[in-house]
Amino acid sequence: MLHSFHPVIALAESLERSWQAYRERGEFDLFVEFTVSLNGLTERLRRRQMPGLVRTCQELENAALALFGDSTQHPMAVDQANGIERRFAQLLGEIRRQQHPLPARRLSDDSSAAPDDVGARPRRILIIAPAGHGWTASLQAQLAFFGFTTEQADWQSAANPTTPPLAILFVPERPGGAYPPKAVGSIMALRTRFPNSYFYCLAVPENLQSMVLLQRAGADACIPADSGISDILSRLLDLVRQEEMEADRVLVVEDSATASAHVSRALTQHGIDSLVIDDPRKLLEAVADYRPDAILMDMYMPFCSGIEATAALRQIPEYQALPVIYLSSESDIVQQVEALRLGGDQFLTKPANPVLLAAVVKTKIARYREMHHAGQHDGLTGLLNHSTAKMRIEQMCQSARMTGRLVVAMIDIDRFKRINDNYGHPFGDKVIRSLAWLLRGRLRNTDLIGRYGGEEFIVALPDMDINVAREQLDRIREDFAVLPHGHEEGPLFASFSCGLATLAGFADPAALIGAADSVLLDAKRQGRNRVLAAPDWWTTSLVDRMQMEEPAGGCL
Ligand code: GH3
Ligand code: MG
Ligand code: MG
Ligand code: MG
Repeated sequence: MLHSFHPVIALAESLERSWQAYRERGEFDLFVEFTVSLNGLTERLRRRQMPGLVRTCQELENAALALFGDSTQHPMAVDQANGIERRFAQLLGEIRRQQHPLPARRLSDDSSAAPDDVGARPRRILIIAPAGHGWTASLQAQLAFFGFTTEQADWQSAANPTTPPLAILFVPERPGGAYPPKAVGSIMALRTRFPNSYFYCLAVPENLQSMVLLQRAGADACIPADSGISDILSRLLDLVRQEEMEADRVLVVEDSATASAHVSRALTQHGIDSLVIDDPRKLLEAVADYRPDAILMDMYMPFCSGIEATAALRQIPEYQALPVIYLSSESDIVQQVEALRLGGDQFLTKPANPVLLAAVVKTKIARYREMHHAGQHDGLTGLLNHSTAKMRIEQMCQSARMTGRLVVAMIDIDRFKRINDNYGHPFGDKVIRSLAWLLRGRLRNTDLIGRYGGEEFIVALPDMDINVAREQLDRIREDFAVLPHGHEEGPLFASFSCGLATLAGFADPAALIGAADSVLLDAKRQGRNRVLAAPDWWTTSLVDRMQMEEPAGGCL
């Protein structure tokens, strides 16, 4: 989902004011405030999934922390302050520039029929490769299929893109050999020019020395020689994802008002939302309502201890993995071990250092979210898995109930058994992945894409007319049919069939999905490699009847 860039701009502007105040008055406290707010901005950018800006902001944060010292060292020397100011101005400039990004261009977007994501991140990629290198053309062709535009330069000529690219791909002279010092120097120079672009070094030898040198030069990712375009593509598609991650949420269970105020303040300063309850008896209700990503639990409270409250929480299967971090003045090691044994994840002594507290909370939450993510996504394609896709479509149906404007598409690769039988299962997997990426590359960020079964996908397109959806999926179908899948015998091609239905006319999500499935069956019967939409006179009862009349086993 698209969100306004406003909060980021507002935060950056308030940061600009705190910096000005520090420059005028030179007080230590103002510098502390600036540094802490800077961390809040990093967090905000991280949630908006803008790795380039996060890196710039973090570098500035580190530079500021290095000058922290104590009150006797402020105001800092003028050249140091100028250094911070220069970096800060660069960051602000980039944030303002990204407020008005160029619209994305899509390969076959030759009509206005396919609604584009307003303000979607520009999908421009720069490829730096030796002149005439064989990879360049194939990288360009593949990236174009997935909706990216590319520019190309060789290592010798200075690359001169008009606007910073989303990412730069570096192809070395000798795949798998060390990047020569001249190449490392070029990467470093480009890093200075494009601090916010993502840098991928391809065909990097798997030795620590090479990787460290490239990282120092500014590489964000070192991709080993044996991984293919699919790896790169998957990373690039992650970069253009626009939805903002929700803020981390922490439930603080603490009976002392002073202690909870201290903790909440530390969390807020680091961009983490929190809710305080002062009585463990409110725990289960608060967890159910607030849905925290972690709990900070006091050890000693009236009614029961933090250990007992945690043990009770762990009785509920849903909360077994929810991180619980104990907060206590407890210094007794035996007690601490007991607390961890009974279901806690970590122990922090009160009053906790705010930086450490935030770091511990964020790390625990990141692990927890990763685990959640793995449970909801399919390992082969990274798309939503069957049960999560179905659940989300149910929610989307709820939201679109009034308008009926929600289209569901069922997609199934044609004659896939033959592909597997003739070219092997791993090749089949590659075809599945390509279609997944094509869908991710072409559909809007607001559209849902799930892997419904082996070579079957489900797509839900909110707020869209069924005819527009059909045209859009038909363009994807046309492009998929000519997308070459690399094989040692030469490029191979596959196709898919697709059935569409729209929510208006169907009583519930199951009926809607069933209708799309019936239309898919029709598409198969009519010869495959086609997209069909349910006619608008279809209703739930009709589809039920048709499905009941379907002869067992079908007749594909
Ligand atoms: P149709 O055009 O009618 O869809 O024909 P089809 O051959 O695609 O028919 P069907 O849907 O019955 O075949 C799906 C095959 O996909 C069967 C199964 O072996 C294979 N498959 C399921 N999951 C995977 C997977 O994860 N990877 C690979 N490579 N194959 C899979
Ligand atoms: Mg207490
Ligand atoms: Mg099939
Ligand atoms: Mg199938």
